[in-house]
Amino acid sequence: MTQDQNPPNELNTPALCDACAGIQRNWRRAPGHAELMQGVNRKEPRRHGAVTVTRYVCERCAAVWDYENDKNNTHAGWSLLGHLDPAS
Ligand SMILES: [Zn+2]
Repeated sequence: MTQDQNPPNELNTPALCDACAGIQRNWRRAPGHAELMQGVNRKEPRRHGAVTVTRYVCERCAAVWDYENDKNNTHAGWSLLGHLDPAS
């Protein structure tokens, strides 16, 4: 596979594991993967009301994800926050 260019809008983060790299971002009901550890839920205010956002951390590459479950927004979904800092 030859790939010289990074896709646009790619975050400047450490390498994701294959499973995390395969997550479709900003798409409602896109699946996560088996090695994501579910964390806390929180409520985020949106124009039409509060939605639930769930934090996940990958056990393989320590990537931190939020999954926003907003049935009014098909582009809510997975967003990559970065990686856990092992020192904190
Ligand atoms: Zn991962």
